[in-house]
Amino acid sequence: MHQSVECEPVILQRERTINDLLIRLESRGWRITPQRRAIAAVLVGENVHLAAETIYERARVLLPELSVATVYNTLNELVAMREVREVQSGSGPKRYDPNVEIAHHHLVCTNCGRLRDLALRGDIPSMAPERPYGFTVTGIDLTFHGLCPDCQQESTAPQAP
Ligand SMILES: [Zn+2]
Ligand SMILES: [Zn+2]
Repeated sequence: MHQSVECEPVILQRERTINDLLIRLESRGWRITPQRRAIAAVLVGENVHLAAETIYERARVLLPELSVATVYNTLNELVAMREVREVQSGSGPKRYDPNVEIAHHHLVCTNCGRLRDLALRGDIPSMAPERPYGFTVTGIDLTFHGLCPDCQQESTAPQAP
């Protein structure tokens, strides 16, 4: 039988609010300090993949006395708790992704670094070799590289004389 589409891209719809995250964290015994609340507030939304520096800048608007060290410590804790996922995309700084509930891959713009979530329907694990180097494969993260719509426009725009 002919199979036409093996890997179909799907744009993720995520409905996750600050309250969901905080309620979940609280139910796991995480003490919600004002510092942690400010950081969690920044890490909510669609296609959020922020560098620690950006998280610090945005959270500081909510809580001016926040320190960089607290931001790094909190992010490390959230990653260890698997409430936030680290995403390494090319040469840029590590990004933090609050979308841990839906398995997904990433689409990265090689020009501006914009990062989008991308879910694929289809059997990707079957493409992996069986027990490579004796490993048991438990997950696959794919990063697709390309140019975002804005950067495509930029590269085709007429050059100024
Ligand atoms: Zn771009
Ligand atoms: Zn993501």
